[in-house]
Amino acid sequence: MNTIIVGTQWGDEGKGKVIDILSKKVDYIVRYQGGSNAGHTVVVDNKIYIFHLIPSGILYKHKICCIGNGVVVDPAGLIKEIKDLSLSGIDIGNRLKISPLAHVILPYHKILDQLRESKRTNKIGTTGRGIGPCYADKINRFGIRIADLLNSRVFRDKLNDNLKEKNEILKKVYRHGGFDFNTLYREYLNYGLVLAKYLCNVTSLLNNAIEKKKDILFEGAQGTFLDIDFGTYPFVTSSSATAGGACTGSGVSPVKIDKIIGVAKAYTTRVGEGPFPTEFPAVFDKFMREKGNEFGATTGRPRRCGWLDMVMLKEAILLNGISELAIMKLDILAGLKSLKICTAYKYKGKKFREFPYDLEVLANAKPVYKEMPGWNSPIDKIKRYQKLPGNAKDYLSWLQGDLGVKISMVSVGSSREETIFI
Ligand code: GDP
Repeated sequence: MNTIIVGTQWGDEGKGKVIDILSKKVDYIVRYQGGSNAGHTVVVDNKIYIFHLIPSGILYKHKICCIGNGVVVDPAGLIKEIKDLSLSGIDIGNRLKISPLAHVILPYHKILDQLRESKRTNKIGTTGRGIGPCYADKINRFGIRIADLLNSRVFRDKLNDNLKEKNEILKKVYRHGGFDFNTLYREYLNYGLVLAKYLCNVTSLLNNAIEKKKDILFEGAQGTFLDIDFGTYPFVTSSSATAGGACTGSGVSPVKIDKIIGVAKAYTTRVGEGPFPTEFPAVFDKFMREKGNEFGATTGRPRRCGWLDMVMLKEAILLNGISELAIMKLDILAGLKSLKICTAYKYKGKKFREFPYDLEVLANAKPVYKEMPGWNSPIDKIKRYQKLPGNAKDYLSWLQGDLGVKISMVSVGSSREETIFI
């Protein structure tokens, strides 16, 4: 069985936990897009592990974890992640496989990312880690792939061309001093040497595994509404965060995918800038952010919080072909007197049930809410669906009915045990 996990909102839905649980049942786990701007948090035996590039499945012995061609890799960050995992006793051995086709983030990507953001009239809220400029070079056919780091002549010519251009831009447009060729050349050749033992033809590896009826989990980073095409552009990430990205980002054909699971928080959060129709008013926003500990795993940035948005969820189900949903952080809603669910948007007298692509509509849309009563008692110790408070069951069953997709997992806490399987 080959399964893709995608976020149905703006990322941070809790995919890390779902991926961790499902990783146990598969043989291979694959990251297929994004870079170290993503952060999955996994809690095992009270120990917190934060993953940026390496699939969290590495926590299980014997699982093979892949970084596909669609990912952009910051080698220094990846090497640190490998080291940190080893220090916390996780034996990576030869279980990490990196596609040589993945593109490399260089320091000029990060600086350009930050400088460009600083000059924008409308900030997009980039993490400043060079992801966007690295993907831009890839599409411009100017990028440097991991494979290039292992060929000193190829790397020399590519870096030379890149630095000539980037240094001009940095100096003339941004008054930045630019980068020295020799320093970068030596540093990155060295990264190539360190990473060489992990490089492998990930596409062949996965397709051979499929032939042998092995199970693969493709773990999406970010979420549907951060997708470069379908997200709330330009407040998006620079890769395909929807299910299609799993195929282009790994070299596994769409016909070989069996199931797509969507992960949704029981409310909505968004980090960074951009329209957010169901965003809470300031005081309640602060209250819920603290209640739900909604601060970025990678950057610590506070996340904006709001009610659950069915317009978004329905769009995500359509775009990804989701047949099963995991509802996360239901425990955080406990103690609220009533819960709101956005069923449509209203703008200039018109009702939108489909996600509008006009940014102005989205930015000014007023949500149409359905209200449901909340529940008072905490639910984090509950293991079975039947034991949930009636109002929590009503909330879930209304969602399932309206979305027309089965809710197969409900998460009521951050640990593996705090999960209800339906
Ligand atoms: P991801 O990027 O989608 O994996 O999301 P994050 O890892 O950034 O955010 C999920 C955070 O919520 C992590 O700190 C998890 O440990 C925590 N978490 C996940 N599921 C639940 C849940 O059901 N309840 C609570 N209280 N926390 C959860």
